[in-house]
Amino acid sequence: MRHTADGWWAEEAGFSPARPPLREPLDADLVIVGGGFTGLWTAWRALELDPACRIVLLERDRCGHGPSGRNGGFCKGLWMNLPALVAHHGDDGALAVAQACEDAVTAIGGWCRDEGVDAWFRTGGFLSVSTSPLLDPVHADTVAEARRLGVPDKAQALDPDATRSRFAGPAVRGGVLVPGATIQPARLVRALRDRLIDQGVALFEHSPALAVDEFSDRVLVRTVHGTVRAARAVLAAGPALGSTRPLRRRLTIGSSHAIVTEPVPDVLAHYGWTGGEAVVDRRTLLDYLRTTPDGRIVSGWGGGRPAAGARLHGPVWCDPAALDRAARHLLELMPEVRGRTIEQGWGGPIDISPSTLPSVVPLGPRVDAAYGFTGRGVGPTRLVGEILAARALGHADDRTRLPIVGPARGSVPPEPIRWLGATLVRAALIRKDDDEAAGRRAGAAERFVAGLPGRLGITVGR
Ligand SMILES: Cc1cc2nc3c(=O)[nH]c(=O)nc-3n(C[C@H](O)[C@H](O)[C@H](O)COP(=O)(O)OP(=O)(O)OC[C@H]3O[C@@H](n4cnc5c(N)ncnc54)[C@H](O)[C@@H]3O)c2cc1C
Repeated sequence: MRHTADGWWAEEAGFSPARPPLREPLDADLVIVGGGFTGLWTAWRALELDPACRIVLLERDRCGHGPSGRNGGFCKGLWMNLPALVAHHGDDGALAVAQACEDAVTAIGGWCRDEGVDAWFRTGGFLSVSTSPLLDPVHADTVAEARRLGVPDKAQALDPDATRSRFAGPAVRGGVLVPGATIQPARLVRALRDRLIDQGVALFEHSPALAVDEFSDRVLVRTVHGTVRAARAVLAAGPALGSTRPLRRRLTIGSSHAIVTEPVPDVLAHYGWTGGEAVVDRRTLLDYLRTTPDGRIVSGWGGGRPAAGARLHGPVWCDPAALDRAARHLLELMPEVRGRTIEQGWGGPIDISPSTLPSVVPLGPRVDAAYGFTGRGVGPTRLVGEILAARALGHADDRTRLPIVGPARGSVPPEPIRWLGATLVRAALIRKDDDEAAGRRAGAAERFVAGLPGRLGITVGR
């Protein structure tokens, strides 16, 4: 299995020529730190609200080098997370956030259409399949909440036949289907970036923000060779925010790893998987699978190692053991893949919030940050970008009043306890997942350790 620094999506999409680093002092209305989906959608929306807005966007590496250009491409909202939304935001808040996230997914498809961007946007739904009797009850709470809240079509329980008519892996039992789409993430990042540059956004790559200082009349963002003085700042730096002082205790940084097969359209036909569904199994440390237009499978495992102190290097980007596991799980779910080439594997960091839900937090009167997408940001970043832009430009609307906006809630233990704890819990969850996927009840020790975060009010996985 080949590994490259950027992953297969970026290779497929290709890169536009890099933008030069910032080398001068600049004035702006809005400075955005981070050129992933959150930062790029923020810039897009800000220009929609005020075409004259002077925007500077600073990207540490190249836009899309981070998770936004290397994810599984599941473009979905948060309907599967309805129980967590209700627990944190109440019935009305949960419904409003879930609907707004679904609208964001629709808007991404509409954007691609309107802008003539072929980012492989395909609405096939998001299907959670059970592969063992012990995993059958998972997501029953999602279906029950959707019914109770009067939106049963947003989380439909499928019987075994209906599930297998969409994805007939040999172990597949029942399923739960929620709205969702898939995209080619690097194509979307690249198209957004290029259009923003065309529209006059001053976008600088290889320009890490080193410090963000807020004053009564401005924000000052410093890079190695330049500074930006702006009226407002948005911090959209993804998992890197876990090492910033205000958010250090709000995030755990985990990792996710994905692989891509050679084209295997015959295998997809064998399993009746031709509807473009984004599929997950029900391990707590999730397996996810989707197809591409040329019949490949992109498959990943969300159980990569945590990053100590949010330091984003090494195994967070490529861990051979995590890639092997992703490949092994794919073979378990789809044995017909055996003997086919797995062309490439890659990984990336995940910004995990204690609630597993994203948040927009004001860090000061002139500075907002967004964090905690927990491996589910591809759709929600569009909504969050709209919120960040509206707040930066003083346009209050229904979205800026959603309950995901506000002071940071929930915290995680300080380092090194966090890393030690996350490492122990991860090991227990891997064993528990393996047992449950094999139809065995996990041992008492595994269940105890796996349940520790819950006792601290921290949700883990799925
Ligand atoms: C392997 C993998 C699979 C995933 N699969 C899915 C999926 O299928 N569906 C889904 O919804 N989500 C998935 N995710 C998560 C998803 O990719 C993220 O939630 C989403 O991309 C978050 O976007 P973002 O813009 O907030 O952050 P990022 O994409 O992390 O962007 C932040 C950017 O900020 C830059 N940056 C960091 N520090 C600085 C600094 N100091 N100065 C300037 N720039 C800085 C980074 O280089 C980066 O480009 C996956 C993630 C990974 C790693």
